Amino acid sequence: MSGPPAPERRPRQSLHPVLGAATALVMATTGTVIVPPSTSAAQFSPRGVAVSSQYRSGLDTMTYGRTQLSTASRDSDRVSDELRAQTLARRERVEQKRAKRERAEQKRVERERAEQKRVEQRRAERKRTARLSANRWVLPLANYSLSARFGEVSWLWSSYHTGLDFVAGYGTAIRSVASGTVTEASYDGSYGYKTVVTLENGTELWYCHQTSLAVGVGTAVGPGEVIGYVGTTGNVTGAHLHLEVRPGGGDPVDPFTALTQHGLKP
Ligand SMILES: [Zn+2]
Repeated sequence: MSGPPAPERRPRQSLHPVLGAATALVMATTGTVIVPPSTSAAQFSPRGVAVSSQYRSGLDTMTYGRTQLSTASRDSDRVSDELRAQTLARRERVEQKRAKRERAEQKRVERERAEQKRVEQRRAERKRTARLSANRWVLPLANYSLSARFGEVSWLWSSYHTGLDFVAGYGTAIRSVASGTVTEASYDGSYGYKTVVTLENGTELWYCHQTSLAVGVGTAVGPGEVIGYVGTTGNVTGAHLHLEVRPGGGDPVDPFTALTQHGLKP
C-alpha cells in the first residue's frame, strides 16, 4: 500500500465556503484581492489564476452590478419622472373633465334660469291678460236703443237724468257690465228693482227698473253674467234699463263716456 502519495486533492470549491461571499463583497467594495486565510500559498499558487479569475469574475459581477445599479437608478429616475408626468397628465385630464362638467352644469343652470324666466314671463302675461279680461267691460244688453242720455233735464226727473237708458223688450236678460260684487239687490223707490254691483276700484254700477232680480247681495259677478231682467218697476214710461256709473260710490258720471273709455260703443 505504498506509492507516491496521491496528489493533494484540493476541493473544487475555490472560495472559502463561509468567507467566500464576504470576501467577494470586500473585494467588490475595496477592489483588493484577498486570499482566504485557510488557503495556503501552494494551494493558491497553481490555481491562483483560476481563483483570482473567479474573484475577478465576482468583482466584475459586482462592478456590473454597480453599473446595473447605476443604470437601474437612472432608469428608476426616468421611470419616476415618467410616472410623475403621467400623474400630472392624469390630474390635468381629471381637472379638464371637472372644468368641462362645471361648464356644462353652469350652462344647464343658465338654461334652466332662462326657461324659468320665460315661464314666469308667460305666467305674468297670462295674469295680465286675465286681469284685463276680468276688468273688461261689456254692454249690458245685446239689442237695445238708447233713449234718455245722462244730464238731460225733463219733468221725469227731479233734477237731471243721472244715467243712460237702454230701451229693450220686457224681460230681456241684463248682463253685468264689469266684474264685481253685488252690494245691493232690492226695490228702491223711483229706481224700482235695483241691483248695485261694486267693482274692485269702488265704482258702483246701478241697474234699475228691473222686472226681477237674478242675483243676491254678496254674489261675485263677471262681465256678461246675467244679473236680472228688463222691466218697468219704479218711475218709468216704458220697459228699459236705467244704468248709472258712480265712481267710488259717489255722484254719478256719464255712463256713455265710461263705456266708451272701456272700449265700448254704446
Ligand atoms: Zn233713466
